[in-house]
Amino acid sequence: MQNFLDTEIKFLKGVGEARSKLLSSEIGVATFRDLLYYFPFRHIDRSRFYSIAELEGSDLPAIQIKGRFISFRVEGEGVRKRLVGVFSDGKRMIETVWFSKVKEMSSLYKPGVEYVIFGKPVAFHNSYSIAHPEVEIFNPEKPPTGFRGVYSLTDAMRKKGLSTRVLQSLADNLLKHPRFNTIPETLPAEIVSRYKLMPLQEALRQMHFPEDIRSLQLATERLKFEELFYVEAHILRYSMERSSKLPGFYFRKIGENFNGFYFNVLPFKLTGAQKRVLKEIRADMKTGRQMNRLLQGDVGSGKTMVAFMTMLMAVDNGFQSALMAPTEILATQHYATIKEWAHPLGIKVALLTGSTRSRERKDIHEGLLSGEIKIIIGTHALIEDTVQFKSLGLAVIDEQHRFGVAQRARMWSKSKIAPHVLVMTATPIPRTLAMTVYGDLEVSVIDELPPGRKPVTTLLRYDSNRMEVDRLIVSQLREGRQVYIVYPLISENEKLDLKSLEEGYKRTCETFPSYKVCFVHGKMKPEEKDHQMDLFVNGEARIMVATTVIEVGVNVPNASVMVIENAERFGLSQLHQLRGRVGRGADQSYCILMSKAKAGADTKKRLAIMTETTDGFLISEADMKIRGPGDMEGTQQSGLAFNLRVANLARDGQILTRARETALAVLRGNPSLLAPGCAPTEAKPEDMPPIILAENDLGIIRCELATRFAKSVDWSLIS
Ligand code: ADP
Ligand code: MG
Repeated sequence: MQNFLDTEIKFLKGVGEARSKLLSSEIGVATFRDLLYYFPFRHIDRSRFYSIAELEGSDLPAIQIKGRFISFRVEGEGVRKRLVGVFSDGKRMIETVWFSKVKEMSSLYKPGVEYVIFGKPVAFHNSYSIAHPEVEIFNPEKPPTGFRGVYSLTDAMRKKGLSTRVLQSLADNLLKHPRFNTIPETLPAEIVSRYKLMPLQEALRQMHFPEDIRSLQLATERLKFEELFYVEAHILRYSMERSSKLPGFYFRKIGENFNGFYFNVLPFKLTGAQKRVLKEIRADMKTGRQMNRLLQGDVGSGKTMVAFMTMLMAVDNGFQSALMAPTEILATQHYATIKEWAHPLGIKVALLTGSTRSRERKDIHEGLLSGEIKIIIGTHALIEDTVQFKSLGLAVIDEQHRFGVAQRARMWSKSKIAPHVLVMTATPIPRTLAMTVYGDLEVSVIDELPPGRKPVTTLLRYDSNRMEVDRLIVSQLREGRQVYIVYPLISENEKLDLKSLEEGYKRTCETFPSYKVCFVHGKMKPEEKDHQMDLFVNGEARIMVATTVIEVGVNVPNASVMVIENAERFGLSQLHQLRGRVGRGADQSYCILMSKAKAGADTKKRLAIMTETTDGFLISEADMKIRGPGDMEGTQQSGLAFNLRVANLARDGQILTRARETALAVLRGNPSLLAPGCAPTEAKPEDMPPIILAENDLGIIRCELATRFAKSVDWSLIS
């Protein structure tokens, strides 16, 4: 007999051919499983009347309250005009608000009459209010209609009469199906009982037709836990498998290069955090297993020095190192820095990018093969097949989020035994993301800036403050400093973008006629772009007007002003990155966020976070809460794609931590689960949260992923 969950949806009572086509083409519901897991996006509770006191401190769905209107008043003007009604359940009061039809509404309801209002209560200034509630006269004869889900629908479904009500009845048919109770539990029994989780069948039932709020919460929690448990189990299994199987190079000693540099060349004192991270790296190098470490550190925290000193460990043990940067400019800057540090030690460093001449390229290839070149710095050019090493022991990857997992993996495949991998990123990654998207990496954090840095003064300004901003720019230019002016890119309309950028350039040239202005954007030819960048880096141009191409890692310590136009268009993490381009010296720097005077309260609040803190972690947590984890830099660009159905990385940190600990315990306690392809439970692979894993299997990259999400993968990265 066919598995109940895999039964085609057309066999469900109430579906049939036509509806089954619509369900599968519109919302991807093709089987019983799909429908069961097509959870409501919100719920409405008409099972009983709530008292206003019950709202306190809880996050309720739409609910109904019985009572009387006490008074009405009109607030605001023009488009902000609204009608506020005070509604009492006999004990407490709640406000109801209407933004339209203000006049009609106020005469509609009579004080003294008993009404039922229905809607989602929202906390506001220590009390609750309901916007646009449904209102009807209380009818003691009318029975409560229950607690049920509201499903997201497409227009095509609505047109054909496939409404929320129909979906509710289909879900009901499914839950009442005689074989519903054959659905297997997907979590190990010990885990279910240990954490008192709601059993699967019950949870599915409660998701569609909750008995009460508490049951809905328990059902949601259970499903979130399960989802995160499998994400973590996958990642941990993968990394345990790798670390138990994959040998890494022993870096036995700390030798003369490391010590010589540390005692004689190092131009400053390492910060405590840099020392700690170097110790963590050193510990990895001694285990005989391959290191995979993510090094997080805010802009300017000194990651390059840590990378360089790790390279010295490699040199001391007879190995070569490679540093891969996402852009040519960055690679060139790294090269300049590292060559200077390496020179006194007599270590040969080379630079390989797309624009390296073929003659030179040949020399470099030879130098890498012979082992003469100890440190190679470059761009994607490094992962071309023609680049071969004598003994690559360490691969450092800067600004991680620009590279996919697969590209990382290609770097590893450069040697028979995978080199140690150090991935550096300046985008602080919220802890929850680090545990999932980057869950296969160990994490080190540089949480301390070198001494003497002045925090960048961040100001929020509007168009009406233009003169003041111009004055600040001029005063900094007169002191010999340099200025960035950045414009957003709104990809839907490139022409318009370019126009605002070009106008900005023109205005800048006119406003500051005695200073040279350079101009950079992503649509330029690379040579032209490099030329413009050079003008700024070497100080000839004092102002750079640009799009976010400068976001990543450009280092011009003399720059002291960062003006960001239309700042509301940027994510907080991106603003933080941009701000990191200034404040690299000991003098005071400024970041000016230009926004529209009319910006909404939300926008102002969001931008205000930037003026209040320079802590990248706080900012990225806030950013993730606002934008949701799916939009975070890193999730999309890392090449690691997964969609969470119920869990939310921004909100479910606690559940995630517990899920990770549990997964770890299960894997440790039962090593046989580590065998590839062996699911820890009865769950089928397609029940597992999808995740792509890239792995170096002695030079071969293997990618696993839950099959049904295959389409979300950019295969071109993996070939
Ligand atoms: P990021 O972490 O953003 O890559 P960098 O490695 O570019 O930061 O370092 C920023 C600047 O700080 C560089 O000029 C670097 O030489 C300097 N620096 C790094 N570590 C220290 C330190 N311990 N003390 C003083 N300056 C340092
Ligand atoms: Mg850097």
